[in-house]
Amino acid sequence: MRIVMLGPPGAGKGTYASRLTKILGVPHISTGDMVREEIRAQTELGRKIKQYSDKGELVPDEIIIQLLSNRLEKPDAEKGYILDGFPRTINQAEALDKISKVDLVINLNVPDDIIITRLSNRVVCRKCGAIYNLLTLKPKKEGVCDKCGGELYQRRDDKPEVIKERLEVYRKKTEPLIDYYRRKGVLKDVRCDSLMTPPEVIVEQIMKIINEEEKKGKD
Ligand code: ADP
Ligand code: ZN
Repeated sequence: MRIVMLGPPGAGKGTYASRLTKILGVPHISTGDMVREEIRAQTELGRKIKQYSDKGELVPDEIIIQLLSNRLEKPDAEKGYILDGFPRTINQAEALDKISKVDLVINLNVPDDIIITRLSNRVVCRKCGAIYNLLTLKPKKEGVCDKCGGELYQRRDDKPEVIKERLEVYRKKTEPLIDYYRRKGVLKDVRCDSLMTPPEVIVEQIMKIINEEEKKGKD
C-alpha cells in the first residue's frame, strides 16, 4: 500500500511512520530525514538546502521532487511506501501523481498548543534518527538513544521562533492538500487531542484504517 502521512510539523508523522514501517514491511520515506542527510554530508545540494531548512522554510519544489523521485525508483519502494513530509505543496502532490498512485492519505489533526509543546521538547538521535520527547517519550538515559546509543540533540528548526514560521508555512502551503486528497476520496482523518496519548494508540487507529482499506481493495 502507498501511504502519505499528512499533518502539521510535530503531528507525529515520523513517530508513527517509523512504527508502521515495521508492521507493514514497506519503507518509511521521510523527506525531512533526506534533507538532514544531505546537509550532514555537506554536499553542494546540502549547502543549498540548509539555507531554507534552518529558517523553517520549504526547500524549493524542484529540488525536493527530484530527491523524492530518485528515492521512489529504488526497488524497495515497489511494493509500497509510507511518505512522511512529502508532498507539502500542491505542486509536489501533482508531481507525485505523475510518478505513483497514492492509495491512502492519513491526515493527522493536532491542535497548535500540543504541537508547540511537543516540538519544543523533541530530541532526535544523531545516529539513527529515532525521535524522543522529554515530556512524554523520554529516553532511558538522558541524552542517549535507547536504540543505538547515539547522541540525542535538538533540531535547529525546533527553536520557538522557527516553530512559528513552520506552522505558518504549513497553514499556507500544505493545508490545501487536505482538500486536494479529500476530493480524490483517499483521505482519512485521525485526531490526537492530548499530549499524553501514547503513540501505540494512534498507530492502532491508523492500522485499523489501513486494514479496512485493504479489505475494500480485495472486495
Ligand atoms: P517537520 O517536523 O516540520 O515535519 P521535517 O523533518 O519533515 O519537518 O522537515 C524539515 C525541513 O526539511 C522542512 O522544514 C523543510 O525545510 C525541509 N523539507 C522536508 N520535506 C520537504 C518537502 N516535501 N518540501 C519542501 N521542503 C521540505
Ligand atoms: Zn539512535
